[in-house]
Amino acid sequence: MNTQQCFSCGAPEGMVHFKGRGETLSAKGMERRIDDMSGWECQKCGEVELDDECGQRYSDACDELVLACRKMIGNEMKRIRRKLHLTQKETVQLLSGGGHNAFSRYERGEVLPPKALMLLMRLLDRYPHLLADARNLAEGADLRGAFKFTEHKEQEALTTS
Ligand SMILES: [Zn+2]
Repeated sequence: MNTQQCFSCGAPEGMVHFKGRGETLSAKGMERRIDDMSGWECQKCGEVELDDECGQRYSDACDELVLACRKMIGNEMKRIRRKLHLTQKETVQLLSGGGHNAFSRYERGEVLPPKALMLLMRLLDRYPHLLADARNLAEGADLRGAFKFTEHKEQEALTTS
């Protein structure tokens, strides 16, 4: 049977089986081609359900592309950091905050850097002389360590007397 009722819009015999379809996924200039897919497509509403094995291949290709994108961004972050002559630790302290190994995780492509950090790095890539300004502006921009606690001995004396 080559047609069945659409489970999305309910059109009777709306879904038609297809075979041998190829698709190209692309992101950030990289591509992954998935060939020879089969599944069902509704002629009415466009709902597509890939056959099991193809669905797996499709989602594997998506995962792989996401990894490749993170890797590419990681390499870009590393290139810019080195161009600015910063260590990973300095970069975190100056620009992003967070754990001391955060930047190495970005560079290895394990985690996607926050958008604001990526934007900042790209701005510094284009205008490296702004790094000196960034250092000045970063003074006091982080509240951690900005508080001092002073114990008042007089108060202590008041409560004990
Ligand atoms: Zn449908």
